[in-house]
Amino acid sequence: MPSDRDTPSDPRAAALPRIPFAVPFTTAPGFAALGERFFTRLPPTPLPSPYLVSVAPAAAALLGWEGDAIGAAAHEQPFIDTFGGCAVPDWADPLATVYSGHQFGVWAGQLGDGRAIRLAEALTPNGPWEIQLKGGGLTPYSRMADGRAVLRSSIREYLCSEAMAALGVPTTRALSIVGSDAPVRRETMETAAVVTRIAPSFIRFGHFEHFAAREDHDALRRLADFVIDRFYPECRDAGGNPYHALLREVSLRTADLMAHWQAVGFCHGVMNTDNMSILGLTIDYGPFGFLDAFNANHICNHSDQQGRYAYSQQPQIGFWNLHSLAQALLPLWREAAGDSEDERSAANDAAAEFAREALDPYRDRYASAFFRHYRAKLGLRSADDGDEALLTGLFRLLHAQRVDYTLFWRNLARISAKDAAADAPVRDLFLDRAAWDAWGAEYRARLQKEQSDDVARNVAMNAVNPKYVLRNHLAETAIRAARDKDFSEVNRLLAVLSHPFDEQPEAEHYAALPPDWASGLEVSCSS
Ligand code: AMP
Ligand code: MG
Repeated sequence: MPSDRDTPSDPRAAALPRIPFAVPFTTAPGFAALGERFFTRLPPTPLPSPYLVSVAPAAAALLGWEGDAIGAAAHEQPFIDTFGGCAVPDWADPLATVYSGHQFGVWAGQLGDGRAIRLAEALTPNGPWEIQLKGGGLTPYSRMADGRAVLRSSIREYLCSEAMAALGVPTTRALSIVGSDAPVRRETMETAAVVTRIAPSFIRFGHFEHFAAREDHDALRRLADFVIDRFYPECRDAGGNPYHALLREVSLRTADLMAHWQAVGFCHGVMNTDNMSILGLTIDYGPFGFLDAFNANHICNHSDQQGRYAYSQQPQIGFWNLHSLAQALLPLWREAAGDSEDERSAANDAAAEFAREALDPYRDRYASAFFRHYRAKLGLRSADDGDEALLTGLFRLLHAQRVDYTLFWRNLARISAKDAAADAPVRDLFLDRAAWDAWGAEYRARLQKEQSDDVARNVAMNAVNPKYVLRNHLAETAIRAARDKDFSEVNRLLAVLSHPFDEQPEAEHYAALPPDWASGLEVSCSS
């Protein structure tokens, strides 16, 4: 344990009861070892009269709760008190971290965990997992806001984190939601909740930007070294400049993440640099959405009037954000240079080259990940020169016809490579049936070219094209029930979305087209 743990930097750190709470993991200082330039120690603010809304067995298993153990533990007081921010377990060292960032393309200055409080870093056989209470109360970084999260957005984040993990998309995870009847003002009055998130690290691009903007190069280096040592050790082993290697690795992971989002039809909604994970995880679920009717320019965030974060823009924005990270890391490269005019000028040239070189592989990596995903989605075993044109034609068609994205891919798996006799499930999704027939014929020819076997292709496609995704209206239905203290729909959805590729006959209605009322749903930055 760090020796400075008993001398909290914020007097509120001593204000909550310490409780014994047996957990299946040990803890380590983790981020806290970086020192107090990086965070403020403080306890959460208790949720009044907390109650358990839901606990996610898969996330609990990552922390070491095996089998049914979590079901029982989660209903006991230490769990509810801990994950409702009402008491601090003896293994926790609660703190809020500081970061900055670019929001909607504009430098926003200092932000930080305005409502997230890191409890501890758990050491598990699955590696380190930071445990964080989102909605845990005011911090020095709350600015004008209230430090809370509402039940609505907590349910959305909780379900989507776990759904994305089950889809195979890198993401932070969610352990539990603890609710309260405490009122919280958003557009309307809502109630408070705490969603407990876990991730190997919650470090964002914005953490680096923060220290770069302050010209605190020592802190910047410490942070980069911390990330490299724990998560990218190969960057040091490679022999070259480790910070250059780090930027390159982060850009490759980000490219992979963007391709994955596009493939599953996920729109993040607020890709600010403070919402970009240094580990290439999906992080900070707010006004996200999955595509229903395909619209390449879909904007899921009602607050994003310009469409900066539209579906089609995500890969480009990922690249833009990496430039901000590169900018922040430049001093670590430049520092090595001497003091003379010539040396500094050479160092500046080298720094620009540094960024270009490290970010250069992004486009190719994105393209190869993109084609890998879409070939798999199409059930193709081989690559063919015509695939790009085939896909472009498909996107144009899906866009023009506003075909439901998830149903399209799932139903596409049911056609036959031999003839059009089994086309109906996918063909019927198109208003312009002739347009489908034309593209379908091209696709069938492509399948025949690689002697595609219908049964094997069906199995392979169903393993990559989910049947179930968290459509807005599904989350909304669970939220409405939860507001009446019926959490069964949250739990049912969690279970269904944990097996998104499986046929679940009893859950067929979760795979259906959105109902008419869903078109009136709006999600915004308000959460
Ligand atoms: P987001 O748009 O959710 O990524 O948040 C941007 C910044 O605002 C982060 O620093 C958040 O911690 C902070 N923030 C958002 N909502 C709240 C809130 N209700 N209370 C305090 N800080 C908040
Ligand atoms: Mg954020």
